[in-house]
Amino acid sequence: MPLAVVCVKPIPDPKHWDRLSLDPQKGVLRREGIPTVINPLDKHALEVALDLKGRFGWEVTVVSMAPPDTLKTLREALAMGADKAFLASDRALAGADTLATAYTLAGLIEKTCQPYDLVLCGNMSLDGSTSQVAPQIAQFLGIPHVTHVGKVETEDGRTLKITMDLKEVQMTLTYDGPMVLAVTKEVNLPRLVNIMGILSAEAKPLEVLDAQGIGLDPSRVGQVGSPTRVRSLFKPDIKRRRKILQGEPEEVVEELLSNLHQVGVL
Ligand SMILES: Cc1cc2nc3c(=O)[nH]c(=O)nc-3n(C[C@H](O)[C@H](O)[C@H](O)COP(=O)(O)OP(=O)(O)OC[C@H]3O[C@@H](n4cnc5c(N)ncnc54)[C@H](O)[C@@H]3O)c2cc1C
Repeated sequence: MPLAVVCVKPIPDPKHWDRLSLDPQKGVLRREGIPTVINPLDKHALEVALDLKGRFGWEVTVVSMAPPDTLKTLREALAMGADKAFLASDRALAGADTLATAYTLAGLIEKTCQPYDLVLCGNMSLDGSTSQVAPQIAQFLGIPHVTHVGKVETEDGRTLKITMDLKEVQMTLTYDGPMVLAVTKEVNLPRLVNIMGILSAEAKPLEVLDAQGIGLDPSRVGQVGSPTRVRSLFKPDIKRRRKILQGEPEEVVEELLSNLHQVGVL
């Protein structure tokens, strides 16, 4: 049975982002105690895998690197329909930059998901937003990758027709070997979790592994293994601009549309 591996990043729930605080000394965000949710694009990645499962019998495994209090968030991925999940969690992994994160996730995939046929990621996370992790995982695994994936089609459940959507340019390619895809929200509409899914998720395997259990090189994980350093950290001072439009309704609507055009909203 072919295996799709989905990288799911638990991120601080945007509803509670006002509770995030900065640690300028360490150059990190303090996220402790803030509830997490599945990174929105990772639900789209999971939906690609679940569609392959539903139509062609693929197996779906979720992998993640996060603190242990995010297990509830990974249960949601199982409730959506994934078969099992593996979480890399260890104090030694804290403070990882994207390179150390990708090294850890690639190690976790190699340790727990052999042989895999497809690795799916979101095109970017909502909190870190670097879009670096998926291509770096591919590099560590030694397989090709495609980012900005807006469409995944297949007739036989084996050869995938992938459309990379770069807005001005669209590129479609077919491939039937293991690869990493980083998907955008255009790829599908993720399913909602239902009560049967929630009940069945409780019985599905969810295993936590530490760095040693995965067989990671301690010098390449966490803050020690992260070549990037945050030089400064600050909260931008965001001020809203307000403009009151006055006049006849037709004139106001016209001016409103022209203003929205000018700022690129329309
Ligand atoms: C210099 C630096 C220092 C940092 N220090 C810290 C720190 O101290 N503490 C901290 O919490 N974070 C820290 N981060 C952020 C952390 O490294 C990133 O959140 C993480 O590497 C993922 O990067 P991203 O969010 O930009 O992912 P992107 O590349 O934008 O994510 C793309 C996709 O990759 C997958 N993915 C990414 N991360 C994970 C994950 N962890 N598990 C599963 N799938 C994943 C998901 O599918 C996601 O949609 C730091 C980042 C940098 C650059």
